[in-house]
Amino acid sequence: MTVTDLDVTVRPRPTTLDLRELAESAGRFLRDAPAQQIVSWAAATFGDRLCLTSSMSDTLLIDLASRVKPGIDVLFIDTGYHFPETLGTRQAAAHVHDITVIDVHPSRTVAEQERDLGPRLFGRNPDLCCHLRKVEPLNRALTPYLAWISGIRRDETGTRTHIRPVEWDPRRRMIKINPLAHWTQADADAYAVEHNILINPLHHEGYPSIGCAPCTRPVDPGDDPRSGRWAGTGKTECGLHL
Ligand code: SF4
Repeated sequence: MTVTDLDVTVRPRPTTLDLRELAESAGRFLRDAPAQQIVSWAAATFGDRLCLTSSMSDTLLIDLASRVKPGIDVLFIDTGYHFPETLGTRQAAAHVHDITVIDVHPSRTVAEQERDLGPRLFGRNPDLCCHLRKVEPLNRALTPYLAWISGIRRDETGTRTHIRPVEWDPRRRMIKINPLAHWTQADADAYAVEHNILINPLHHEGYPSIGCAPCTRPVDPGDDPRSGRWAGTGKTECGLHL
């Protein structure tokens, strides 16, 4: 299977084997390609069965992808625990960019979760809380799509050093596209300046990495940017990218 053999924009859904072979061949073909070329390939290959996910830390990936595919679906996981600044960035992104924002909600509200599982689950069992409020909702929301775009980079954390620009997502049986995989923070900063990218205002208050409010702290200059996430627990990932 080559990157052009399979027209996956037509129904019915390609088989898992076809998609997996496509991920492998495209992964080789696009291994060193620029981010814009990777997104262009994905848009041409998957059409409306392509989406991206955004935590609304900034709109860099949204800007890059919507220039290639105007109106692209942007999945935003509304955990119920976001900072107001993050929700504001989501609102601003929907106004500024040509995108379709889809708010993804957990099956339980925060109040329902506290009623059923007790208060402050994030403090007692953050893995379960992340599964219920992030992983399961995203898995459900991704069901209609054949491929999803993520903004993760190799340089962000030790658990991401292996990621490739195009790869098979075995848990969801779909293709995962990481067009920024090779980028550095300097690359991202340069793009943000050049394109006047919306930045979550918390970045200016000591939050270089932004997640849910109960699990995110500001960090000192020079510290690991992700050290403010689940600080003191040993947890480093929410589970979306494992
Ligand atoms: S980051 Fe914290 S509050 Fe958000 S889902 Fe995970 S454990 Fe829960």
